[in-house]
Amino acid sequence: MNYSGIGSNSEPGGTRFKVVEFQLQQACNVQCLYCGYEQEFSRTGDYLPLELMERTLVQDLGPCPPEWVWLEGGEVTMDDSSRAYLLQALELIQRLGIRSRINTNAQKCSPAFSRELARAGLSFACVSCDSTDPDLFSWMRGQKSTNSRELWEEFNHNVQGLLEAGITVDLEVTLNRYNTGELERVYEYVESFNSSNIMMGVQFLVATADHIFPLYPDPLTQHQALKNLLERAEKGTVPLRICCCSLVPCRYPDLYRPRKNVIWVGCTCGYNYVHVHATGHVFLCGFWDHRQPLGNLKEKSLVEIWQESRIRQESQVIRPQQCRDCKYWEGKYRCHNTCFAVVHRRTGSFHREAYGLIEEALNERK
Ligand code: SF4
Ligand code: SF4
Repeated sequence: MNYSGIGSNSEPGGTRFKVVEFQLQQACNVQCLYCGYEQEFSRTGDYLPLELMERTLVQDLGPCPPEWVWLEGGEVTMDDSSRAYLLQALELIQRLGIRSRINTNAQKCSPAFSRELARAGLSFACVSCDSTDPDLFSWMRGQKSTNSRELWEEFNHNVQGLLEAGITVDLEVTLNRYNTGELERVYEYVESFNSSNIMMGVQFLVATADHIFPLYPDPLTQHQALKNLLERAEKGTVPLRICCCSLVPCRYPDLYRPRKNVIWVGCTCGYNYVHVHATGHVFLCGFWDHRQPLGNLKEKSLVEIWQESRIRQESQVIRPQQCRDCKYWEGKYRCHNTCFAVVHRRTGSFHREAYGLIEEALNERK
């Protein structure tokens, strides 16, 4: 098997995935406003066969294992059956000596279960937290119940439980038109845990399903909100991790000056990160258009799929005109026309500039 080009570390010519992400199950216990995960697929209770995960990690990537395996759903902690499945998956990853992360809403992740997660080797949990206002928090999760205060308290308790189990927690906001005013409050909430094991994340909205487009905040509001947050974090006590930022460096250079506590995560799509859906379909990233898998692990190995994919090859070489000589294309910020998953969804190719496309869509909304 030839492993060259299956991903890379930050240096060109590297040969290792940094992250392989598996969707363990499709079912979820909440319905976030901006969730585009199932798109055209029916939302079944089916699980990803663990044999597929094991075969991929042991036989396929064995000589060149990823640095991290991320597990997500749906919601991986939603009930007894998903929790048992998650523990099995984590134990497998632990046996292979690979670091693990889960993406969770933590609504049903009790402190007792967090201790089991830690024993199964979990080191990092990315926990969605779109607001600190209990009503807005619940509403953005699609929970229409009247007990938002109770849900919020349960969430707090569970986040504390993860920290006490020794698991690093990233409380992550998915930035949308309803929570641009929440960012600094979430940062202060993260600080209030007084832990060296916690950080805040901001995931920019990625509209690869049509119903998500109307949720984009307008760029000026978004820019001001992020600017205020960066200034707050610079004076703060916890790290801030920003990913898939559609406020690209050529338009908003002020955002990108180096600051204490701020970690930028560029576009990893098609590069050193891959997403595997519960059906076995392989995608360029978790937000990729679900009608366009690169292949399926039930039919081919991950390495074969990755190396043979025409879409992936195009994603790495085609640049919109304005990005041709840009110093931010690769390197520390790896802008790569953030977000080209949106561009491909809207235009069928990688030639357009993402930011302009999002602006056009926002103008159509007016
Ligand atoms: S294409 Fe890049 S910027 Fe867009 S969601 Fe994927 S990783 Fe993020
Ligand atoms: S890669 Fe393209 S979109 Fe990104 S900063 Fe450079 S010119 Fe702008």
